[in-house]
Amino acid sequence: MITVEMEKQCGCFKKSDYNAVQTFANKDEALLAASEMCVDMNENFCQKHNFQVAEDGEKLIIKMQMNG
Ligand SMILES: [Zn+2]
Repeated sequence: MITVEMEKQCGCFKKSDYNAVQTFANKDEALLAASEMCVDMNENFCQKHNFQVAEDGEKLIIKMQMNG
């Protein structure tokens, strides 16, 4: 099992239907889902934040940075 966790949750994330913590059967599945989530969030959220997947041992963290 691999966990994907949001490092921080901005307002747009809280308003979205995504969950802050999700679990997947394996790393490939988790990576794919996390990357797709980042693309979607980077395109459809407020554009003030940038989301990026990072590996952290047995989990994946979606990091959030302010744009600009
Ligand atoms: Zn935001």
